[in-house]
Amino acid sequence: MCGIAGVFESEGASGLVASILFAIQHRGQESCGAAARDAAGRIVAHKGMGLVKQVLDEEVQARLSGTTAIGHVRYPTAGCSDEVNAQPHAIELAEGPVMAIASNGDLINYGELRARLEREGVVFKSDNDAELIGRLIALYHVRDGLTIEQAIARVQGELKGAFSTVLMYKDRLYAFRDPHGFRPFVMGHLGPEGDGEPASEGTVFASECCGFGIIGARRLREVKPGEILRLEKGRPVVSVSHAPLQPRHCVFELIYFSRPDSTIFGESVYQTRERIGACMAAKDGTLPNGDDLVVLPVPDSSNFIALGYARAKKAEFGMGLLRNHYVGRTFIKPTQASRDEGVKQKFNPLPDFFPGRRVVLIDDSIVRGTSLRKLVRMVRAAGAREIHVRIGSPKVIGRCFYGIDTPTREELIANRMSETEICDYLGADSLRWLEVDDFEGLLPGRRQDFCTACFDMDYIYPPEGFAAKTNAPVART
Ligand code: SF4
Repeated sequence: MCGIAGVFESEGASGLVASILFAIQHRGQESCGAAARDAAGRIVAHKGMGLVKQVLDEEVQARLSGTTAIGHVRYPTAGCSDEVNAQPHAIELAEGPVMAIASNGDLINYGELRARLEREGVVFKSDNDAELIGRLIALYHVRDGLTIEQAIARVQGELKGAFSTVLMYKDRLYAFRDPHGFRPFVMGHLGPEGDGEPASEGTVFASECCGFGIIGARRLREVKPGEILRLEKGRPVVSVSHAPLQPRHCVFELIYFSRPDSTIFGESVYQTRERIGACMAAKDGTLPNGDDLVVLPVPDSSNFIALGYARAKKAEFGMGLLRNHYVGRTFIKPTQASRDEGVKQKFNPLPDFFPGRRVVLIDDSIVRGTSLRKLVRMVRAAGAREIHVRIGSPKVIGRCFYGIDTPTREELIANRMSETEICDYLGADSLRWLEVDDFEGLLPGRRQDFCTACFDMDYIYPPEGFAAKTNAPVART
């Protein structure tokens, strides 16, 4: 999971990009960067390991002068945890340092395309997808004489997988998205409202529209699946082409990854989570209500699911677990050791809250189960009489190949244990998940537009080397 940002023709573009990235920091905390075009027309990038506030400080923003900039926050899903894989990637062409690219998503035909490019003599500096997309575009532009947007269109048709991408080329900015629209990608505008597509000046892009409020921009619309947008000074935004396929928006973005104040894939994130909670409560009629029952989220990603559950059940909603906000998301820490340490540091029970109470503990998902087990123990030790765990997503049984770092099938607890065994392992009194079929009612008339492959193994196309039943991992060079 990563996040991207772009600003076209606005004063202090790199500062605006840094602000957007700060608002979408939840999408990646390992590294970040920005690229801007200076007065001489050179595109310069600055990247580093760490958070936006550390890497893109005021001194860096001052150096990245210019009115157009792009940026990226990274959580590694493919490729090693190293600064070489931070984005954006500046790509030198024969014309000079005139191109930079940042992308969110994973490609399933990365290995095949990289091998093809290396046979052509292309040298890579990293092992992530954005550089591959950029080098493929550069090759078709330089070798085959295509314009940049012709090259983007050809590449868009060759890539398989997820990519929401911003690309600077000379004084232009392009935004394009994979034909299935796996990852969210929105366009906004700084400045007065107008009819139709906005003037290119002041147009902004982000993975999520929660990045717009912080800079005073308003959300216009999504970059459509399969669309290529061109931004040129003095002209309106042009939709160069639009070749969509059946949408496969990532349903996990709605459940967990995206911020509740974002609207993605045409759905409000917090309202979707409230509906999930209400759906689970409606199926939980055998759990008796009462003054001693309290519904508790694992903060923060489960807050709205728990709120929806509590409202529907007419039960008390309580914030019995306090979260230390100076500890990042445990899921997006790269190693199990760092995740374990994160859980211990991250949560603390309210004193005198739990003794004698029956607790419905709501979490958004169970992946390995190790973090939730620690939380259940914590709540039990704090005095809870009963703990009923409710999970706001179906069982995770498959890997994600489209930009989310889920572990191998063997590591997923739902593949290793029965429901009873998982409940015992967690130390809970009862355990229930959302069901895959529940998405029909939660996304009325739109179920087919969403990817649920990690819950039902219905991959729209399998990745390289994929063995249908074993979900074998893809080897990366
Ligand atoms: S496999 Fe799961 S995490 Fe990956 S895109 Fe599909 S729903 Fe999202």
